[in-house]
This record gives sequence, structure tokens and C-alpha cells, in this order.
Amino acid sequence: MAEIKEKKMGRVFLVGAGPGDVRLITLKASELIKTCDVLVFDHLANSELRKGVPMGCEQIDVGKSPGRHTMEQEEIGKILVQKAREGKKVVRLKGGDPFVFGRCAEEMIVLNEEGIAFEIVPGVTAALACAAYAGIPLSHRDYGSSISFLTGHEDIEKESLRVNFRKFAEVGGTLCIYMGMGKLEEIISKLLKGGLPPDKPAAIVSQGTLPNQRKVVSTLDQIVDDAKKAKLEAPAIIFVGNAVGLTSRNNWFEDRPLFGKRIVVTRPVGQVSRLKDLLEKKGAEVLELPLIKILPQNDRKLIAETFAGIATYEWVVFTSANGAREFFDVFFKAFGDIRSFGPMRVACVGEATAQVVRKFNLEVELIPDRSTGEDLAQALVATESLDSANVLVVTGNRNREVLVGLLESVGHAIVDTLPIYQTDFADVTEAPDVAQYCQYGADAIVFTSSSTALSFVEQEEDLKIENDATKPMLCSFGPETSKTLLENDLEVSLEIENPSVDSMVDALVQKFENH
Ligand code: SAH
Repeated sequence: MAEIKEKKMGRVFLVGAGPGDVRLITLKASELIKTCDVLVFDHLANSELRKGVPMGCEQIDVGKSPGRHTMEQEEIGKILVQKAREGKKVVRLKGGDPFVFGRCAEEMIVLNEEGIAFEIVPGVTAALACAAYAGIPLSHRDYGSSISFLTGHEDIEKESLRVNFRKFAEVGGTLCIYMGMGKLEEIISKLLKGGLPPDKPAAIVSQGTLPNQRKVVSTLDQIVDDAKKAKLEAPAIIFVGNAVGLTSRNNWFEDRPLFGKRIVVTRPVGQVSRLKDLLEKKGAEVLELPLIKILPQNDRKLIAETFAGIATYEWVVFTSANGAREFFDVFFKAFGDIRSFGPMRVACVGEATAQVVRKFNLEVELIPDRSTGEDLAQALVATESLDSANVLVVTGNRNREVLVGLLESVGHAIVDTLPIYQTDFADVTEAPDVAQYCQYGADAIVFTSSSTALSFVEQEEDLKIENDATKPMLCSFGPETSKTLLENDLEVSLEIENPSVDSMVDALVQKFENH
């Protein structure tokens, strides 16, 4: 009997990406992005979301260029159908909610006609998000009992407004106008002509929920001038209605201490998340510019030898958080039981390193006041326990000579070094946000180690910023890093005393408060 192979059909998900802030995406959308074969996106969906796709996922940019709407819409439909027929799980990501001025209907109709299975995932639409992030109430028992979503123009090629704004003046309640900035004057004048009073509360929120959110709160007769003065641009939502008059003076979103600040983090990929997370929660826009990469050192023989004699060390010294992380990774592969670590005493160069060690319930006995190799060595010597003692220094491939030299010459210790990882410069031209940095600059760059500073210097040519871009202040995690910057004629504006992610964030908040 002939074998009948049934071709697996794919499925299309028309998914709302939310208004901008990546944390406003739904759990369902986020799961779909993590598991799709094809991601079809345009520019209203935050590009950060695309970082979540699985390896090998095909990404298709269908961003619309002005004046080419209709043609491209057809093409998008074709792509969705074709990819689904190839058996793929296709996510079509749309800004906000797919059904709110998102052309989802057109895509749904095509999928229906072609017999392609599909699902629709709602998203937080821009009007609701902008209102919430700007403290603008949309309804109120006494001041607003209906909410309308209107569009200024639906098609870039269309000259006139499709919505009859005069009529909507009669509807009252709260009007939320999408895509209205190009015709702001005309829209407002129609609302006035339709009978809305000049002192009717009105507001505009542009780039809502994003680190560059801006808003003006005004009245109908003033809003056009106010928006011009504030240079508000699309994308923006225009709000009109009595409830808008109750807009909060305090703005939880824009009042956060690092709001409006662009901060560059230089840590290697995979290590940025906590720093980035904390900075973003304080309101900063974070650019990722990994300047170094951490590679495990694969000298198996040396590792095996060190571990064979692990019980003979009196001190183990960790010179970086990366070293500590790698060490325990390899350690547990070899032993699987913390008791094999033995009774040795633990010294760490700084608090961030100690935090890694403490996760294994190991006590850190010594952290120097200043996080340098020299201070670490001096503090160890001061314990008067080094003479003829076996000391294990767990380190990278850089900056260890001073420490080891002092432990041997001043402390008379017998030192073994275990280079457990390698630091290499990462190619900045491959950094996710390098283009944005070069174009706009930043308010601050955070250097986490000497090697990030050296890498910055080495690749200065590729990191040149435009003349009118914001010149960043340089922030250092500690004296060694500052030294490297200063040696290369770079001015250090901020150095923290105890290197940890939390104190860097606190220091940045303070610095900008004082500015
Ligand atoms: N489907 C989207 C709307 C797409 S139409 C949604 O549900 O939000 C594009 C319009 O949405 C823009 O012209 C602007 O009016 C609005 N918009 C989208 N993102 C926005 C943002 N972050 N801030 C303000 N307005 C936004």
C-alpha cells in the first residue's frame, strides 16, 4: 500500500506585544515568542522582545515604509500563509493589541480564506498603557462614563480624516485618539467646532511606557501650541475629556530617579541581567555593550591536579565574581558534594565576589576595604597566617601578578594559581545596542572591571559617538578599573567603594539627583 505522508500544517499566532515596555507583554505572548519557528514583526513591537526567540528562529521584518501600505499588507499575508504551509509555528507580533488599529482583521481574513489555523493573543493597547503610565484617568463616576478609541488617519495615503470628529464632540466621555499627531490641529479644531468647550481637558502622551515617555497636559484650546513647544512626536495618544482633568501631578513613571537617563552596561552577555533590571526599575534606559567575554579555561590537567590536593590549602582566594562562579561550576562537576571543599579559609576581593561564595553557605572570612589585588594581599598578610601556608588563588588570565607576588614575597606563602576563566575582548561591532550608542551617546557608562575599560580603549574607533550625541560620564566599579581608565586619559566621574551591583545603582541615583 502506498505510504501516505500527511504534511504537518503550521499555525499562526497573531500576538499583541504591548505598547513598548517589554514587561507589559502577556505570559502567553512571551511563551509563544520563546517557542516559535518564525517571528514576523514590525517596528511598533519593542525590539527587545526579539531577543527571546529560540535559536534558529527565522525573523522577518515587515516594517511598513510610508506610502507602501496596501502592497505590503498583502505580502505579509502571503508570508504568514507560506510559512504555516511549511509546517511552521508562526508568531506575528504586533504593537499593542492586534485588533486595535493593528490590521489584524486583514490578516485573519487571509488566514481564514487559505484554511490556515490561527489564534489571537490580545495585548495592552497604547491608549490604556499611556493613560496608566502618565496617570491620566479614562473614566470617573462623575466625569467620564464612556471611552472611545478613535484614529486620526488609518491610511498614510489618505488626505482626510475618516472619523467625524465633530460628531464625537457630542459623544463626550473620554476620547483616545491614535495616529493623530500628523493632523493634530485639524482634529482639535473639529472637536471645538463640534461644540467641545475650549477649556476641555486634553493631554498627549508620546512614546508611552518607554524610557523616553513625554506628556503634556493642557486644555483643548492650548494643546496644539503646548505640543509644539514640547516637540512631541508620534507615536502618541491624544486624550480629551473631563476625566483627563484629574491627571495626577505626581507621575509614578516619569518621577523615578533614573527616568530619562541612558546608561550603558558593559558586562559580558548573560551577566547583565541584574544590573540592567535594577537600572530599568529605577527608570533608566539601558544599552547593552558587552566589552568582554568570559571563556572557561580548559586546562583539565591543572584543574585535576588542583582538585586532587584541594584539602591541603589553608586559604582560597577569589579575585573576581566570574572566577568564583566558574570555580564552583567546575568544582561541583568534579565532586558533587560541598564537603570535598575542605576546611580552608576563604578570602574575596570584594562584596560581589563574596556573594557568589556565600550562596554555597561558605563563610567568607576576609574582604579588603578597597577592592584591589594589592589591598587583598595586604589584608591577607596582616592575618599573619601565610608563612609557609598553601594558598590557592582562583583567578582569570589578567591582573594576578601583583597579588601573587605579594603573597609570596611579603607573606611567604606557597601559592598555586588556578586560572579558571579567560577574559577576552568582545567585538563591540556585534553588540546589540552599538548603533544606538554611537548615534545618541549615553548619560553614563558602567565599567565593571579593568578589562572592560581596556576593551573600551582598544575599540574606541568603533565607539565614536556623533557630535551632537550625549557625552557619557564614566563610572567605575573600583580603584583598579579607575586606574585603567585614568592611565588612558579617561576621566572617571564616579567610583563606588564596595563593588556590587546594588551600590552602583544607588551611586548613580545619587549622582543624577545632585546634577
Ligand atoms: N495596535 C496598536 C496600535 C497601532 S496604531 C495598539 O493597540 O496600541 C499606531 C498608533 O498607536 C500610533 O500612531 C500611536 O497613536 C499609538 N501608539 C503605539 N504605541 C505607542 C506608544 N508607545 N506611545 C504612544 N502611542 C503609541
